[in-house]
Amino acid sequence: MHKPAILGGNPAFKELIPITQPTLPPIDSLQKPLSQIFSTGQITNGRFVKELEKKASSYLGAKYAIAMSCCTSGLILTEQALALSGEVILPSFTFCATAHSLLWNNLIPVFVDCKRNTHNIDPQKIEAAITPKTSAILAVDVFGNPCERENLQEIAKQYNLKLIIDAAHSFGSLYKEKQIGGFADAQVFSLSPTKLVVAGEGGIIITEDKTLAEKLVLARNYGSPLDYNCEFAGLNARMEEANAILALRSLEMLEDNVKKRNKLVTIYKQRLSTLPGVNFQEIEPSNRSTYKDFSILIKPDSFGMTRNHLAQALEAENIETRFYFYPPIHQQKVYQSLGINYEDMLPNTLAISASAISLPLYSHMPEEYVNRICSAIEIIHKYAGEVKEAVSGE
Ligand SMILES: *Cc1c(COP(=O)(O)O)cnc(C)c1O
Repeated sequence: MHKPAILGGNPAFKELIPITQPTLPPIDSLQKPLSQIFSTGQITNGRFVKELEKKASSYLGAKYAIAMSCCTSGLILTEQALALSGEVILPSFTFCATAHSLLWNNLIPVFVDCKRNTHNIDPQKIEAAITPKTSAILAVDVFGNPCERENLQEIAKQYNLKLIIDAAHSFGSLYKEKQIGGFADAQVFSLSPTKLVVAGEGGIIITEDKTLAEKLVLARNYGSPLDYNCEFAGLNARMEEANAILALRSLEMLEDNVKKRNKLVTIYKQRLSTLPGVNFQEIEPSNRSTYKDFSILIKPDSFGMTRNHLAQALEAENIETRFYFYPPIHQQKVYQSLGINYEDMLPNTLAISASAISLPLYSHMPEEYVNRICSAIEIIHKYAGEVKEAVSGE
């Protein structure tokens, strides 16, 4: 009988299977546009960024798309442009950049719990967190699972709050069988290498609001209008032409890549759901996730070990894993220093954060790898008792 590598068996893979990898277009497809920007010298502020904005708004079903240097600068400048003040409600189960954008605007983050099943902010818990100082809700599409846009919009309207969606993970997601454009005051995407549409580094903001769109175009260019008479302090947050060229090719591959990931996840789920103590993030049947990440939740009692044990055992198999998102934002040092005590207030966030483990997934990953990873997990589970003793820590 084959044994887990951590107990002396052969590792599932000879070389490390990374948690993710960008799926890049063939280099030949970039040569022509790249030589164009070299021959014209137009390496920024040119036609490729404009073309990307047009294609992105059309794909996403949004009126306006504004390309940015990254999603973080997009969030920061959107919050500035919407003139947010005081407190902003957001989930704690997200990537740090969501909350950091608020600190850059001197806004106070107010963390609200997420739902156990979807991992997304729980609209029903938002109302209790609203105070006279609240100016906005900043929701997140966790791992590409679209947050509850309609419910969030209703609450925002009722309390006269702005709604921003950190859609860093969800370029390619569907909400109620439709593209995710058209909701919220703004939605901000990331085009960094771990996301599905890759620019190198880059971001895109979509909005239906013309005034906001115009303000953001100024904001990414120092806030400087044509007469150089600035009304506010912007940044240099422009996307370069070379990045837009890569993003355009990547966008052409998006639909295909989302489908491939969904197929790989179907295999993962089919096989892993037969093991006790393995649970999954739930995606509403009418929604589609990009599966920017694929995480499973480990229940130690029934699985036989914690996700930390599993991670160590998988490392021995040359399978890379991550704990997204651990620690949750409200427990990170910079947010602890705000002096707000969230003790016991975010039980779902704590539970998910302590039990989630992300497995390798990228769009060009062979199905055979998924099967081999599942086999490795099955064997590790089978030898749970011995594995637990072999690995260190809790
Ligand atoms: C990646 C990510 C960001 C930051 O995106 P950048 O383009 O790297 O600035 C923001 N929010 C979430 C949820 C992310 O995963």
